[in-house]
Amino acid sequence: MVQIAIDGPAGAGKSTVAKALAERLGILLLDTGAMYRAFALMAIRQDIMPEEHPDSVWDRLFDGFKLDFAGQRTFLNGEDISDEIRAPYVEAVVSQFSAFRHVRSRMVALQQEIAAGRPVVMEGRDIGTVVLKDSPNKFYLSASEEVRAQRRHLQNLQKGLESDLDSVKELMHKRDTSDMNKEVGQLVASPESIYIDSSEKTVDEVVEAIISQLVI
Ligand code: C5P
Repeated sequence: MVQIAIDGPAGAGKSTVAKALAERLGILLLDTGAMYRAFALMAIRQDIMPEEHPDSVWDRLFDGFKLDFAGQRTFLNGEDISDEIRAPYVEAVVSQFSAFRHVRSRMVALQQEIAAGRPVVMEGRDIGTVVLKDSPNKFYLSASEEVRAQRRHLQNLQKGLESDLDSVKELMHKRDTSDMNKEVGQLVASPESIYIDSSEKTVDEVVEAIISQLVI
């Protein structure tokens, strides 16, 4: 049974690669960033700020946190929130919410429950280091900051969203710095993972690079 961990900073192409890989192998895809985004959205809607709270506050949120995935869409308690979780106001705070120890331990437990005993491709920040730490298939996908910002900028324009390259770059840098400096679940290119720089690679080339190095 193959369980593949793909970690890396924003805009490295994790989602596109993970999706292509899951399709090629015919296995489940889990976008763990979407889960943290959905959780942040739910907190914002309930006026819960990204600051320290007693565990019971996070537990209450988790009690009402029911996620479903259908194809590329994400549903929170039955509502399609796929577009809203990509909105700048969610993106600006998701890293802060995902830094809280209790939030992470609940989310990791949920992710491990979903993945238990089945082949899966999981992408995020702490998959190889925490969620699937026993898997032999760990990849760290990155690209230069310039390339990553350009990709995100183009994605925004293609979606018909307003986008300014410098602001995209700044926001991305801020979020990566925050993700790399968390006390728990921080983004780190661990020596156990295979490092792939996607700056000058096509999606197919990255997928091939991963497939050719899988331990099955
Ligand atoms: O991958 P994506 O950009 O959608 O992730 C959104 C945010 O969720 C990240 O910036 C990070 O703060 C958080 N995240 C995390 N651990 C993961 C996946 C995402 O902390 N495994």
